Amino acid sequence: MTSTDTRDIKSTIKQIKELEDCDCELVRVAVPDMEAARALEAIKKGVSVPLIADIHFDYRLALAAIEAGCDGLRLNPGNIRQPDKVKAIARAASERNIPIRIGVNAGSLPKTAGPKLPVARQMVNAALEQIQLLESLDFNLIKVSLKAFDVPTTIEAYRDIAEKIPYPLHIGVTEAGLPKTGVIRSSVGIGTLLYMGIGDTIRVSLTAHPREEVIAGYEILKSLDLRQHGPVLVSCPSCGRAEVDIIKLAEAVEAELAKIKKPIKVAVMGCVVNGPGEARDADIGIACGKGRAVLFKKGKKIGTVEEKDFVRVLMREVNKL
Ligand code: SF4
Repeated sequence: MTSTDTRDIKSTIKQIKELEDCDCELVRVAVPDMEAARALEAIKKGVSVPLIADIHFDYRLALAAIEAGCDGLRLNPGNIRQPDKVKAIARAASERNIPIRIGVNAGSLPKTAGPKLPVARQMVNAALEQIQLLESLDFNLIKVSLKAFDVPTTIEAYRDIAEKIPYPLHIGVTEAGLPKTGVIRSSVGIGTLLYMGIGDTIRVSLTAHPREEVIAGYEILKSLDLRQHGPVLVSCPSCGRAEVDIIKLAEAVEAELAKIKKPIKVAVMGCVVNGPGEARDADIGIACGKGRAVLFKKGKKIGTVEEKDFVRVLMREVNKL
């Protein structure tokens, strides 16, 4: 999700282009007022990734966003409630074949969701209520999300609704925090759901530049072998056996790998005793000794390298593959 003021068309396009550069596949923008809704038309022209308009409270903003050419809507059932207003949105979305995400948030649940029930149940109820309304209007281009800050609540809500509805689920842990802790919360929540086979699109929600969200999202998908995206760095945690500053070396290699896109597994290991074996399935790697390292490919030694050349030679081999 962009963090720019959507009314600032130039900055919003610039940020979306940054997200496109790291292969983001869907971008959501906040639509807090009419000016922001109308700005979507110009923003659409400047970017190529599909744009989702995030709408709260005012159904007219949804209509204006559709008019401006957005590719999808996110509505919060906690704050757009009157059936005639939802009906007007559904009619306009249907005419343009635009999907609507029913985006339930634990922090803004409708009173009809059963306030005494556990939060996960309330979230499911809020979504079901809105789904029934859209279905009664013959609208079924529906996606659903049920996000909470609490990871077990999030998992429980998605597990429950996945058994009840046939629609795609957009998954995430909301307001997960700063990257250090937020990436962990998101990885546990999103990763658990994906491993259970639940989830069709994901968003990592971080207090950071949205580029960090996209990078973290891909890392989650890569860890579960659901996507190949760019290089994977295998690096050992180091131990008393290491004779090189493995943290510094791994960081230098990671910075170089960030410049390339091919899906390749690269290993940086702290010793020649266990290094190649521990990184057996890496495409290319180095296992360091004192002042020298063994260069290996798929766990087999192919040469040796001087310490001053570690990064350069490793990257030369990476680029050759
Ligand atoms: S590869 Fe070597 S230095 Fe790194 S953790 Fe394993 S044993 Fe220790």
